[in-house]
Parts: sequence; structure tokens; C-alpha cells
Amino acid sequence: MSTSSGVQHCYRHPKRETRVSCATCGRPICTECMVQTDVGIKCPDDARLPRGARAGSMKNEQIAKTVLTGAGVALAGIAVVSIIFQIGFFTFILSGIAGYGAGTLIHRVGGRNGGPIAMTTSGVAVALPYLFFAVPQILAGAFPIYILLAALIAAVAALYASR
Ligand SMILES: [Zn+2]
Ligand SMILES: [Zn+2]
Repeated sequence: MSTSSGVQHCYRHPKRETRVSCATCGRPICTECMVQTDVGIKCPDDARLPRGARAGSMKNEQIAKTVLTGAGVALAGIAVVSIIFQIGFFTFILSGIAGYGAGTLIHRVGGRNGGPIAMTTSGVAVALPYLFFAVPQILAGAFPIYILLAALIAAVAALYASR
């Protein structure tokens, strides 16, 4: 297949013919200008943009809010988890609900973008309060499977809510 309509000229070097175009913006680029990325050939402008500069990414301010909220969730979580264990039943269900709520909150302050930062923050923030109760037991030689399972359920719910 060789049609003359397939030949374009590099947008940076108008005299050079090329059949290659940028995977992001579609502008034709010559072999010297093209940049191989793991998502295809790109022009230098688009190759320079970090992955996070596109949809689903957070601004610095949103990242800061996310991390701060995560810290708040971890602190408040100690009280919440303590109450959950005092109730003594529906522990896993309550943990799932609490985790989901925390994940939703973190997802919102991050501008509802989700992504790895929101997910990591909410997962860690939700798991930490459980570890606060689990670690002393582990240090004492016990294996608090009940607490760890509840932590896992809460963390998964949080990840699900903030994805
Ligand atoms: Zn481009
Ligand atoms: Zn060029």
C-alpha cells in the first residue's frame, strides 16, 4: 500500500516527508523527531508530558489534600476501629462500610480523579488504625487474624471507593 495521500510532512521539519504520526495529537513527525514510548510513537511535545498530566491525574493541591485527609482518616480511624471492635459483631461488615466511607472521602478531596495516589493513600490510611491494634498483639507473640482480616476488608473497600 503506497499512496501519495499517505505522505505527510513533519510538523517540525516541513521539508521532510513522513508516514509516521504522533499517537496523541496525530501530527506527522519524521524519524528524527519521533519518540518511542510504551504507548506508541509520539511527537517530542507529547512524549515530554508525564503520564499524570492527562485525564485522571491530580494537581499538587489535590495531592496535598489527599495525603492530609489520609492522615486524618488514619487518626480518626483509631477511634472508629476501636468502636467497631467494642461492638463486637458485624466487625467485617462495619469495617467494609468504614473503609468504603474513608475511600469515598479521600476520592472526593482528590478531585474524584482516583488513581494510584488516592488508592494508596486510602488503603494505607484505612489499614493503619487496624495495625495500631494488631501490632501490639503481634509483638506479644499472637497472630490477630481477626483484626488483620478486618483491616484487609476495610482496605479493599477503601481502594474500591477511591479508584
Ligand atoms: Zn503529538
Ligand atoms: Zn522532524
